[in-house]
Amino acid sequence: MIESEPATTGCRSCGVVAYSHGRRDVLLIDVPCFGRPVLLVWRKRTWRCHESRCPVGSWTEWHEGLARPRALLTTRACWWAISQTRREHASVSGVDRQLGATSKTVWGSIEPLLQAMADDETRFEKVVALGVDEHIWHHVSAKPIEAGGRGPKELTGTVDLTRDQQGRLRARLLDLVPGRTGAAYADWLTARGEAFRSGVKVAALDPFQGYKTAIDDHLQDAVAALDAFHMVKLGTAAVDECRRRVQQETLDHRGSKSDPLYRIQKLKRPRFSAVPMRVTALGWGLRSGLARTRLG
Ligand SMILES: [Zn+2]
Repeated sequence: MIESEPATTGCRSCGVVAYSHGRRDVLLIDVPCFGRPVLLVWRKRTWRCHESRCPVGSWTEWHEGLARPRALLTTRACWWAISQTRREHASVSGVDRQLGATSKTVWGSIEPLLQAMADDETRFEKVVALGVDEHIWHHVSAKPIEAGGRGPKELTGTVDLTRDQQGRLRARLLDLVPGRTGAAYADWLTARGEAFRSGVKVAALDPFQGYKTAIDDHLQDAVAALDAFHMVKLGTAAVDECRRRVQQETLDHRGSKSDPLYRIQKLKRPRFSAVPMRVTALGWGLRSGLARTRLG
């Protein structure tokens, strides 16, 4: 049970000293404690203006830092829920359970905060190395969200691969937009503006011509670089193809358990995965955050 410190308050309209109008209990879901959901009872002060010509009448106290008006969760519980899903790999239902709230309550509380972060374009500042890759969001119907579905399956994701002054990779997800096409990436780059595009010096991508075309058209100053994950994938595929071809040419049948070329197929893979480290040493200077995301 909480309440604010007693203090003199003026009417927000006419400024005349307000009179207490009693208390009103408001329930707020707070950050869980000792593995249990926590419910705060906020004994809110209500005030009344006694100035006869003032239109205000009575009102209830309000503290932005504690909870937004009409909120069901405290502001710190909202940020706790966001951080659980973003940094601790918590499931949405797990967060709901820990807070002792329904999914609708939690989502309704955190969505305005997430929206404000998505609308904040300062994250696009000082991006020098930019990564792009497709992302499959789900494997069910692409029925629109407005119609109760999950919306588009395929998305194009962009990642900030810039290094800070200590050489640490930022590896921050910048955006996800619907579509897995060059046009989706080109439109996103166009929307970022000239200042953003001219700042990008390295553009990493998966081996997809659509993205390459978008980079050629919109990031003329940047060096296009294939990301490490796809380099290893393509290299492994090339060696596998060669192994199968030699198998066919020399023994005239598909590899089976007794064939030496079949037996070494797994042996080569771990050796080949050493390639990206050498690539970095050679000065590509780009250990792809996208690759780490996919492998991780
Ligand atoms: Zn007043």
